[in-house]
Amino acid sequence: MKAGPFEWPPGALALVAGLFGACVGSFLNVCIYRIPKDRSIVWPGSRCPACGGAIAWYDNIPIVSWLALRARCRTCGAPISPRYVLVESLVAILWAGLAWMHGWSPMFWLGAVAVAGLTLATFVDLDEMYIPDRVSLGGIVVGLVAAWLWPELHDADRRWVALARSALGAAVGAGTLWALACIGERIFGQEAMGMGDVKLMGAIGACFGWPAVLFTFLTSSLSGAVVGLSLVALRRRQLRSAIPFGPFLALGATLWLLGGRNWWDLYIGMLTRWRI
Ligand SMILES: [Zn+2]
Repeated sequence: MKAGPFEWPPGALALVAGLFGACVGSFLNVCIYRIPKDRSIVWPGSRCPACGGAIAWYDNIPIVSWLALRARCRTCGAPISPRYVLVESLVAILWAGLAWMHGWSPMFWLGAVAVAGLTLATFVDLDEMYIPDRVSLGGIVVGLVAAWLWPELHDADRRWVALARSALGAAVGAGTLWALACIGERIFGQEAMGMGDVKLMGAIGACFGWPAVLFTFLTSSLSGAVVGLSLVALRRRQLRSAIPFGPFLALGATLWLLGGRNWWDLYIGMLTRWRI
Protein backbone atom coordinates (compact mmCIF):
# COMPACT_ATOMS: atom_id res chain seq x y z
CA MET A 1 0.00 0.00 0.00
CA LYS A 2 3.08 2.27 0.09
CA ALA A 3 4.21 4.61 -2.65
CA GLY A 4 7.43 6.17 -1.46
CA PRO A 5 7.22 8.25 1.69
CA PHE A 6 3.59 9.20 1.02
CA GLU A 7 0.92 6.66 1.82
CA TRP A 8 -2.16 6.89 -0.37
CA PRO A 9 -5.54 6.40 1.26
CA PRO A 10 -7.14 3.40 -0.51
CA GLY A 11 -10.14 5.52 -1.59
CA ALA A 12 -7.98 8.09 -3.41
CA LEU A 13 -5.96 5.30 -4.97
CA ALA A 14 -9.11 3.59 -6.23
CA LEU A 15 -10.46 6.87 -7.63
CA VAL A 16 -7.26 7.63 -9.58
CA ALA A 17 -7.07 4.05 -10.86
CA GLY A 18 -10.75 4.21 -11.84
CA LEU A 19 -10.23 7.39 -13.90
CA PHE A 20 -7.27 5.84 -15.71
CA GLY A 21 -9.30 2.66 -16.17
CA ALA A 22 -12.09 4.61 -17.91
CA CYS A 23 -9.55 6.05 -20.38
CA VAL A 24 -8.04 2.62 -21.00
CA GLY A 25 -11.57 1.26 -21.53
CA SER A 26 -12.14 3.99 -24.12
CA PHE A 27 -8.99 2.89 -25.97
CA LEU A 28 -10.07 -0.77 -25.69
CA ASN A 29 -13.32 0.13 -27.48
CA VAL A 30 -11.19 1.24 -30.42
CA CYS A 31 -9.15 -2.01 -30.23
CA ILE A 32 -12.26 -4.22 -30.04
CA TYR A 33 -13.63 -2.55 -33.16
CA ARG A 34 -10.42 -2.36 -35.20
CA ILE A 35 -8.27 -5.41 -34.36
CA PRO A 36 -10.63 -7.95 -36.05
CA LYS A 37 -10.64 -5.67 -39.12
CA ASP A 38 -6.82 -5.61 -39.07
CA ARG A 39 -6.74 -1.83 -38.87
CA SER A 40 -4.29 0.38 -36.99
CA ILE A 41 -5.32 1.02 -33.39
CA VAL A 42 -3.44 4.34 -33.17
CA TRP A 43 -4.33 6.06 -36.44
CA PRO A 44 -6.61 7.67 -37.44
CA GLY A 45 -8.37 9.10 -34.37
CA SER A 46 -11.87 8.02 -33.35
CA ARG A 47 -14.55 8.30 -36.01
CA CYS A 48 -18.28 7.81 -35.96
CA PRO A 49 -18.98 4.37 -37.50
CA ALA A 50 -22.17 5.76 -39.09
CA CYS A 51 -21.06 8.99 -40.81
CA GLY A 52 -17.25 8.66 -40.63
CA GLY A 53 -16.95 12.10 -39.07
CA ALA A 54 -13.94 12.67 -36.80
CA ILE A 55 -14.86 12.80 -33.12
CA ALA A 56 -13.53 15.86 -31.27
CA TRP A 57 -11.66 15.32 -28.01
CA TYR A 58 -14.48 16.89 -25.99
CA ASP A 59 -16.93 14.37 -27.47
CA ASN A 60 -14.55 11.51 -26.67
CA ILE A 61 -14.28 11.79 -22.88
CA PRO A 62 -15.04 8.37 -21.36
CA ILE A 63 -18.60 7.95 -20.03
CA VAL A 64 -19.15 11.74 -19.66
CA SER A 65 -19.42 12.53 -23.39
CA TRP A 66 -21.79 9.63 -24.02
CA LEU A 67 -24.11 10.99 -21.34
CA ALA A 68 -23.72 14.63 -22.49
CA LEU A 69 -24.48 13.70 -26.12
CA ARG A 70 -27.41 11.52 -24.97
CA ALA A 71 -25.89 8.56 -26.80
CA ARG A 72 -26.00 10.22 -30.24
CA CYS A 73 -23.34 11.36 -32.72
CA ARG A 74 -23.05 15.18 -32.70
CA THR A 75 -22.72 15.31 -36.50
CA CYS A 76 -25.22 12.79 -37.85
CA GLY A 77 -27.34 11.92 -34.80
CA ALA A 78 -26.77 8.17 -35.19
CA PRO A 79 -27.16 6.30 -31.90
CA ILE A 80 -23.90 5.37 -30.11
CA SER A 81 -24.02 1.88 -28.64
CA PRO A 82 -24.26 1.72 -24.83
CA ARG A 83 -21.54 -0.94 -25.07
CA TYR A 84 -18.89 1.79 -25.31
CA VAL A 85 -19.92 3.07 -21.88
CA LEU A 86 -20.26 -0.46 -20.55
CA VAL A 87 -16.63 -1.27 -21.47
CA GLU A 88 -15.36 2.04 -20.04
CA SER A 89 -17.28 1.61 -16.78
CA LEU A 90 -16.27 -2.04 -16.49
CA VAL A 91 -12.54 -1.34 -16.78
CA ALA A 92 -12.88 1.70 -14.47
CA ILE A 93 -14.59 -0.37 -11.76
CA LEU A 94 -12.16 -3.29 -12.08
CA TRP A 95 -9.08 -1.04 -11.95
CA ALA A 96 -10.52 0.78 -8.92
CA GLY A 97 -11.14 -2.60 -7.25
CA LEU A 98 -7.61 -3.77 -8.02
CA ALA A 99 -6.10 -0.57 -6.59
CA TRP A 100 -8.29 -0.88 -3.49
CA MET A 101 -7.19 -4.48 -2.92
CA HIS A 102 -3.55 -4.43 -3.96
CA GLY A 103 -2.39 -0.77 -3.65
CA TRP A 104 0.35 0.45 -6.02
CA SER A 105 2.01 -2.97 -6.09
CA PRO A 106 3.28 -5.25 -8.86
CA MET A 107 0.07 -7.23 -8.38
CA PHE A 108 -1.94 -4.12 -9.24
CA TRP A 109 0.05 -3.40 -12.40
CA LEU A 110 -0.04 -6.97 -13.66
CA GLY A 111 -3.72 -7.25 -12.72
CA ALA A 112 -4.53 -3.99 -14.52
CA VAL A 113 -2.83 -5.16 -17.72
CA ALA A 114 -4.56 -8.54 -17.40
CA VAL A 115 -8.00 -6.96 -16.93
CA ALA A 116 -7.47 -4.83 -20.05
CA GLY A 117 -6.42 -7.89 -22.07
CA LEU A 118 -9.29 -10.01 -20.75
CA THR A 119 -11.82 -7.28 -21.59
CA LEU A 120 -10.45 -7.09 -25.12
CA ALA A 121 -10.56 -10.90 -25.45
CA THR A 122 -14.13 -11.02 -24.10
CA PHE A 123 -15.68 -8.56 -26.54
CA VAL A 124 -13.75 -9.70 -29.61
CA ASP A 125 -14.76 -13.28 -28.77
CA LEU A 126 -18.42 -12.26 -28.37
CA ASP A 127 -18.36 -10.41 -31.73
CA GLU A 128 -16.14 -12.62 -33.84
CA MET A 129 -15.81 -15.97 -31.99
CA TYR A 130 -12.04 -15.77 -31.76
CA ILE A 131 -9.40 -14.41 -29.38
CA PRO A 132 -6.60 -12.29 -30.92
CA ASP A 133 -3.12 -13.79 -30.56
CA ARG A 134 -1.72 -10.48 -29.39
CA VAL A 135 -3.90 -10.83 -26.29
CA SER A 136 -3.29 -14.54 -25.58
CA LEU A 137 0.32 -14.99 -26.72
CA GLY A 138 1.08 -11.42 -25.65
CA GLY A 139 -0.31 -12.31 -22.22
CA ILE A 140 2.07 -15.27 -21.92
CA VAL A 141 5.03 -12.96 -22.67
CA VAL A 142 3.73 -10.36 -20.17
CA GLY A 143 3.41 -13.08 -17.50
CA LEU A 144 6.95 -14.39 -18.02
CA VAL A 145 8.49 -10.90 -18.06
CA ALA A 146 6.53 -9.84 -14.95
CA ALA A 147 7.71 -12.98 -13.11
CA TRP A 148 11.32 -12.09 -13.95
CA LEU A 149 10.90 -8.44 -12.89
CA TRP A 150 8.90 -9.11 -9.71
CA PRO A 151 9.56 -12.62 -8.35
CA GLU A 152 7.24 -11.87 -5.39
CA LEU A 153 4.28 -12.26 -7.77
CA HIS A 154 4.97 -15.99 -7.58
CA ASP A 155 5.98 -16.00 -3.89
CA ALA A 156 9.62 -16.47 -4.90
CA ASP A 157 12.85 -14.76 -3.86
CA ARG A 158 14.84 -15.67 -6.93
CA ARG A 159 14.05 -14.66 -10.49
CA TRP A 160 14.56 -18.05 -12.07
CA VAL A 161 12.23 -19.70 -9.55
CA ALA A 162 9.49 -17.18 -10.38
CA LEU A 163 10.14 -17.65 -14.10
CA ALA A 164 9.85 -21.44 -13.72
CA ARG A 165 6.55 -21.07 -11.82
CA SER A 166 5.23 -18.73 -14.49
CA ALA A 167 6.22 -21.18 -17.26
CA LEU A 168 4.64 -24.05 -15.27
CA GLY A 169 1.44 -22.00 -14.96
CA ALA A 170 1.39 -21.43 -18.74
CA ALA A 171 1.95 -25.14 -19.42
CA VAL A 172 -0.73 -26.28 -16.93
CA GLY A 173 -3.18 -23.68 -18.27
CA ALA A 174 -2.72 -24.38 -21.97
CA GLY A 175 -2.28 -28.13 -21.36
CA THR A 176 -5.52 -28.53 -19.40
CA LEU A 177 -7.67 -26.79 -21.99
CA TRP A 178 -5.84 -28.46 -24.88
CA ALA A 179 -6.55 -31.90 -23.38
CA LEU A 180 -10.17 -30.90 -22.86
CA ALA A 181 -10.40 -29.68 -26.46
CA CYS A 182 -9.09 -33.07 -27.70
CA ILE A 183 -11.53 -35.04 -25.51
CA GLY A 184 -14.40 -32.78 -26.55
CA GLU A 185 -13.61 -33.29 -30.21
CA ARG A 186 -13.59 -37.07 -29.71
CA ILE A 187 -16.94 -37.10 -27.90
CA PHE A 188 -18.87 -34.49 -29.88
CA GLY A 189 -17.07 -34.86 -33.20
CA GLN A 190 -16.79 -31.09 -33.47
CA GLU A 191 -14.60 -28.37 -32.08
CA ALA A 192 -15.73 -27.84 -28.49
CA MET A 193 -13.06 -25.34 -27.61
CA GLY A 194 -10.91 -23.10 -29.78
CA MET A 195 -7.13 -22.77 -29.71
CA GLY A 196 -7.72 -19.16 -28.66
CA ASP A 197 -9.15 -20.39 -25.35
CA VAL A 198 -6.17 -22.73 -24.92
CA LYS A 199 -3.69 -19.88 -25.45
CA LEU A 200 -5.67 -17.50 -23.22
CA MET A 201 -5.63 -19.99 -20.34
CA GLY A 202 -1.86 -20.29 -20.94
CA ALA A 203 -1.59 -16.54 -20.45
CA ILE A 204 -3.65 -16.68 -17.22
CA GLY A 205 -1.28 -19.38 -15.93
CA ALA A 206 1.84 -17.45 -16.96
CA CYS A 207 0.63 -14.34 -15.15
CA PHE A 208 -0.83 -15.84 -11.97
CA GLY A 209 0.44 -19.42 -11.65
CA TRP A 210 -1.23 -22.84 -11.68
CA PRO A 211 -3.56 -22.26 -8.69
CA ALA A 212 -5.15 -19.45 -10.72
CA VAL A 213 -5.57 -21.90 -13.60
CA LEU A 214 -7.41 -24.36 -11.37
CA PHE A 215 -9.62 -21.64 -9.92
CA THR A 216 -10.35 -20.16 -13.36
CA PHE A 217 -11.08 -23.61 -14.76
CA LEU A 218 -13.66 -24.36 -12.05
CA THR A 219 -15.39 -20.95 -12.08
CA SER A 220 -15.45 -20.64 -15.88
CA SER A 221 -16.83 -24.15 -16.47
CA LEU A 222 -19.47 -23.62 -13.80
CA SER A 223 -20.57 -20.19 -15.06
CA GLY A 224 -20.33 -21.37 -18.68
CA ALA A 225 -22.56 -24.38 -17.93
CA VAL A 226 -25.14 -22.23 -16.10
CA VAL A 227 -25.31 -19.65 -18.93
CA GLY A 228 -25.22 -22.30 -21.68
CA LEU A 229 -28.01 -24.38 -20.15
CA SER A 230 -30.07 -21.25 -19.44
CA LEU A 231 -29.84 -20.27 -23.11
CA VAL A 232 -30.95 -23.77 -24.10
CA ALA A 233 -33.83 -23.64 -21.59
CA LEU A 234 -34.89 -20.27 -22.98
CA ARG A 235 -34.66 -21.84 -26.46
CA ARG A 236 -32.23 -19.16 -27.53
CA ARG A 237 -29.63 -21.78 -28.46
CA GLN A 238 -29.42 -25.44 -29.35
CA LEU A 239 -27.56 -27.77 -27.04
CA ARG A 240 -24.79 -28.36 -29.56
CA SER A 241 -24.32 -24.82 -30.78
CA ALA A 242 -21.14 -23.10 -29.68
CA ILE A 243 -21.02 -20.22 -27.25
CA PRO A 244 -17.71 -18.37 -26.89
CA PHE A 245 -15.77 -19.59 -23.85
CA GLY A 246 -13.35 -16.63 -23.66
CA PRO A 247 -15.72 -14.42 -21.64
CA PHE A 248 -16.05 -17.14 -18.98
CA LEU A 249 -12.28 -17.54 -18.74
CA ALA A 250 -12.05 -13.77 -18.35
CA LEU A 251 -14.69 -13.84 -15.61
CA GLY A 252 -12.86 -16.60 -13.71
CA ALA A 253 -9.48 -14.89 -13.90
CA THR A 254 -11.00 -11.56 -12.84
CA LEU A 255 -12.63 -13.20 -9.81
CA TRP A 256 -9.22 -14.63 -8.93
CA LEU A 257 -7.70 -11.13 -9.00
CA LEU A 258 -10.49 -9.62 -6.91
CA GLY A 259 -10.49 -11.95 -3.93
CA GLY A 260 -10.50 -15.44 -5.45
CA ARG A 261 -6.92 -15.90 -4.42
CA ASN A 262 -7.86 -15.23 -0.78
CA TRP A 263 -10.71 -17.76 -0.89
CA TRP A 264 -8.30 -20.25 -2.38
CA ASP A 265 -5.71 -19.69 0.37
CA LEU A 266 -8.46 -20.04 2.97
CA TYR A 267 -9.59 -23.31 1.41
CA ILE A 268 -6.05 -24.74 1.25
CA GLY A 269 -5.52 -23.59 4.84
CA MET A 270 -8.63 -25.51 5.92
CA LEU A 271 -7.50 -28.66 4.12
CA THR A 272 -4.08 -28.62 5.76
CA ARG A 273 -5.61 -27.99 9.18
CA TRP A 274 -7.87 -31.00 8.84
CA ARG A 275 -4.97 -33.20 7.90
CA ILE A 276 -3.18 -32.20 11.11
ZN1 LIG B 1 -22.00 10.30 -37.02
